[in-house]
Amino acid sequence: MSTVLGMVIATQPIGEYDRRIVLLTKEKGKLTAFAKGARRQNSSLLAASNAFAFGTFYLYEGRNSYTVRQAEIQNYFSEFRTDLEGAWYGMYFLEIADYFTRENNDEREMLKLLYQTMRALLSPHLDNKLVRYIFEWKAMVINGEYPDVFQCSVCQKAAKSAFFDSSRFVIICDECLGGHRQYQELSQSTLYTLQYIAGTPVERLYTFQVTEQVLLQMKKIIEFCKNKVIDREFKTEEFLKNL
Ligand SMILES: [Zn+2]
Repeated sequence: MSTVLGMVIATQPIGEYDRRIVLLTKEKGKLTAFAKGARRQNSSLLAASNAFAFGTFYLYEGRNSYTVRQAEIQNYFSEFRTDLEGAWYGMYFLEIADYFTRENNDEREMLKLLYQTMRALLSPHLDNKLVRYIFEWKAMVINGEYPDVFQCSVCQKAAKSAFFDSSRFVIICDECLGGHRQYQELSQSTLYTLQYIAGTPVERLYTFQVTEQVLLQMKKIIEFCKNKVIDREFKTEEFLKNL
């Protein structure tokens, strides 16, 4: 039997009473497991097989699949049942995590990021849009696919404010820019914010606010990078557009 710490990132009914769940785990990366009888009203796995459930899962390891024997859930994130906007954002983050992660891969950073992000979504002090951009940017950083926002691609000096060249996926400082003003401007605060998210441990990510101007600049560059790195649109993204 295997014991794993993880979060349910996808769940689907199977047959009459069962569920198939996708777990993002600390020990084994992403895995799929069957929760037998999880849709019976008296099943101990009923709530443990819902999306967002985070805790310890005890699994039987079969030849081709895992079966959940028991679970000790630390956090169900049940607040999402009444916070529908938060729930849509949460589902979207689960889809992105599912996209980026693999079996038997070290996904500890992504698991930590998901957990902290769900907590941030439930915090009344943080704008959900800011939580979204921080999550998207950090997920790309963890995955290793993002533009270097620390130094100018021309002079290699540390940049304080810069422009984003989307065709080459790099930043260029004010001095090296010359006449190419078609690039996206990144103010000093925006650039610092992107650098901060990239370089800060997940536990300290959701500790700041930004101005409307920074939020807009973040949206533009992060949306662009995300569309370049991720080659599909998620179901939940449609709903977020209407929020
Ligand atoms: Zn430069």
